[in-house]
Amino acid sequence: MMRPEYKVTLLGAGGVGKSAITLRIVSGTFTPTYNPTIEDYYRHEASISNVGPCVVEILDTAGTEQFASMRQLYISNSQSFAIIYSIDSQESFEEAKQIYTDIVEIKPANELAIVLVGNKCDMSNDKREVSTSEGAQAAKNMSNCHFIETSAKENTNVTQLFEKLVCLARDNVQSSSRSKHPSNGKGKKKKDGSRPRKSGCTIL
Ligand code: GDP
Ligand code: MG
Repeated sequence: MMRPEYKVTLLGAGGVGKSAITLRIVSGTFTPTYNPTIEDYYRHEASISNVGPCVVEILDTAGTEQFASMRQLYISNSQSFAIIYSIDSQESFEEAKQIYTDIVEIKPANELAIVLVGNKCDMSNDKREVSTSEGAQAAKNMSNCHFIETSAKENTNVTQLFEKLVCLARDNVQSSSRSKHPSNGKGKKKKDGSRPRKSGCTIL
């Protein structure tokens, strides 16, 4: 049987750790060097509990796209998003909130599948500019948005983030295919307009 394919996109200000998180996911490694120009797709085969074997197309963005239409295209093609900031940068946190509003302009409300990510949580408290509770509160203010703090450097919560993104993408695909075949009834939206929660994916 063909493995299902899911598309996830990593967004965020330059230097927050998008490429470091991507490298952790696809190769299990971390390098302290910084190349801001890398923007690439990775096809990563994975087997995830409650999802099973799948191929995940990860887009590690660099924010260098010359045309806004390119960005629109990959936002509309992606099934889930990590919006990443760095816990030592208030500025990157503000940019994360802006990116959320960009996604909302492109994606229909019932296809929003987002994890807000505070990366570099290995950094000492005196470097921290965004508290965990501020991050969690910002995610609560966004619809269908989960929250997690990660460290690509120390490999903290990176697997959890990846699995969450894939689960959200899978749920998104399932609910959109059901709404194309509404006769089976399962795609019905709840009264509050949210999708019915699928079993198996724990909310972070
Ligand atoms: P990008 O521009 O968002 O792709 O950022 P990069 O992944 O290139 O990372 C920018 C810099 O932050 C690099 O020097 C990384 O080594 C560093 N970095 C990335 N993730 C972490 C992390 O979790 N902890 C720490 N301390 N540094 C990190
Ligand atoms: Mg990068």
